[in-house]
Amino acid sequence: MNTEFPFDWQLRLSKRAKHPRITISSQGLVELVWPHRMSKRHINVMLNEHKLWVVKQLGSIDVQPSIICPPKALHLMAIHQTYDVIYQQNEKDRLHLQEKEQTLVLSGDTQNMQALRHVLNTWVKKKGKLHLLPWLLDVAQDMGVSFAQANIRLQKTRWGSCSNQGHISLNAALLFMPDDLVRHVLIHELTHLKHHNHSAAFWSAVEKFEPDYKKNRILLKEYGKKVPAWLTSALTHDLHKSPKG
Ligand SMILES: [Zn+2]
Repeated sequence: MNTEFPFDWQLRLSKRAKHPRITISSQGLVELVWPHRMSKRHINVMLNEHKLWVVKQLGSIDVQPSIICPPKALHLMAIHQTYDVIYQQNEKDRLHLQEKEQTLVLSGDTQNMQALRHVLNTWVKKKGKLHLLPWLLDVAQDMGVSFAQANIRLQKTRWGSCSNQGHISLNAALLFMPDDLVRHVLIHELTHLKHHNHSAAFWSAVEKFEPDYKKNRILLKEYGKKVPAWLTSALTHDLHKSPKG
């Protein structure tokens, strides 16, 4: 995993390839084929140039293993952590979850999909509180603004919201986004503390802290399709419909 890009990719050095190329498998595996004799200095430049294209292609792939419940692993890109999920089936016991280092052990009736979703969603929300709220505070300090209250939800249609009273809500699903896109959402919501709309003044205030916000808006829409389906089944990829709710 290279954290600079909003997708996982692998490098394959090829003796036969004359030019670099990017391939995407039907399972969403991104591979950069690089001519063996070519200098590797330009790998990041190449990936950067084709980042949007890759994300768009990934967005058009229907089924990815990661969106199937029960998940084998939770890839929390925002905080650069992956948790393996182990299932210990015992249909007589109520499902419960234990976190052991980078592993989640789910024991009990692991075939009860509703309970499974509930337990996993609760855990994701807890992680959201632990990581997203301090992050919001940090970015607020950088921007020189302060908010009244903040909480974490698992909203179906919004990445975040900011009320006129300065109450910010963040979607725990952000944990599955690359960190620069999380920052993009945090800046967006914090900017609403002063601008309660999407006016030109709002966007120019955003731009001060995030010069490439336009690119990140597109990436967020595309990348939002990769949020695990068991987490929130109907996430539309807009930040929100109005800044008030
Ligand atoms: Zn907004």
